[in-house]
Amino acid sequence: MRDKKVSKIIETAVNEGRDFLFEYEAKALCTLYDMPVTKISVAGSEEEAVKAAEEIGYPVVLKIVSPQVLHKSDAGGVLVNVKDEEGVRKGYNTILKNVRAHVPDAEITGILVQEMAPDGTEVIVGSTKDPTFGPTIMFGLGGIFVEILKDVSFRLAPINRTDAEEMVKEIKAYKILEGVRGNPPSDVEAILDVLMATSRMLVDCPEIKELDMNPLLVYEKGAKIVDARIILQ
Ligand code: ADP
Ligand code: MG
Repeated sequence: MRDKKVSKIIETAVNEGRDFLFEYEAKALCTLYDMPVTKISVAGSEEEAVKAAEEIGYPVVLKIVSPQVLHKSDAGGVLVNVKDEEGVRKGYNTILKNVRAHVPDAEITGILVQEMAPDGTEVIVGSTKDPTFGPTIMFGLGGIFVEILKDVSFRLAPINRTDAEEMVKEIKAYKILEGVRGNPPSDVEAILDVLMATSRMLVDCPEIKELDMNPLLVYEKGAKIVDARIILQ
């Protein structure tokens, strides 16, 4: 039986007629499965955004929350490395202006204020549903590795830790995670934890049609999900 809080997040979206979760909802869901996500707070006004940024601590990232804007940076809806109160006030209005210009009929739910994660190795964890076999789990390195080289691994959910380890080790770019050319090695155990937790989430939530953690930033110690997108069926 899944946690009632899991059902509540999904039901809220469904009751509002949405077939997707907002980033803040997707991250809340990830947290319920013990996945590491950035600290987040949804602000409904410039004042609330300043308050949220102070609570989270500078620098912060600001992002649009709108049912019409799923690909946030395409609409000018993401500002990273916002360093102070003035930056939040300006950034808040810049995002609203950008989004209104790109998507004139966008309803603005708010602005998501979040912790700015330090640079790390970008990896992607994804899921799509196979009509016959059910949810799949995908893993790869971010950027050109997934988009151009298609250097990814797939498994059907559920997976165990050995499956997760094989998924990570079988991509061609695995060497990058081991650490090359002065880059430190990445915390592979932290990636395995996220893959296993994703598997549990997919088994618990048949409503999830697609999932995309892009990117998950991996460090020498630990990892952090900085963007999460979940589509419901
Ligand atoms: P999109 O909806 O366009 O995919 P993202 O939330 O992924 O928007 O943000 C775009 C990019 O901004 C990310 O790929 C990442 O490089 C950077 N970014 C987003 N959130 C954070 C964060 N909390 N900390 C650091 N970088 C971030
Ligand atoms: Mg993204």
